Amino acid sequence: ATLPYDDQNIFARILRGEIPSTRVYEDDHAVAFHDIAPAAPVHILVIPRGRYVSWDDFSAHASEAEIAGFIRAIGRVARDHQLVAPGYRILANVGAHGGQEVPHLHVHLFGGRPLGPMLA
Ligand code: 5GP
Repeated sequence: ATLPYDDQNIFARILRGEIPSTRVYEDDHAVAFHDIAPAAPVHILVIPRGRYVSWDDFSAHASEAEIAGFIRAIGRVARDHQLVAPGYRILANVGAHGGQEVPHLHVHLFGGRPLGPMLA
């Protein structure tokens, strides 16, 4: 079962503007900002505005419009950062085994250098 959504999680607070972030994109369904501890030259987090704990929660419960908007936002941010030609990686950690630390769905967008094998 999915945990209840915690309105005090750090990304909820970023969405409300209570904690600063470097926003690179926002629209009706999604917000994107720089990861505070970048693991690559480009490391952006894309999150839905909706209150979804994880990819599991989102994929099960979000509306078609939210899903489409979120997926399109991820692609758009990658294009806006000229990542398509060199290539990039997207990743969502889910739950304890996935290493998810913040309980609001986020997709990591990595780029700017060759990223190597998936789990290296
Ligand atoms: P997770 O392990 O949950 O997939 O990833 C959480 C990510 O959020 C980490 O890469 C971490 O550096 C990032 N992060 C944690 N707190 C903050 C914050 O306050 N601001 C920003 N911009 N990123 C954060």
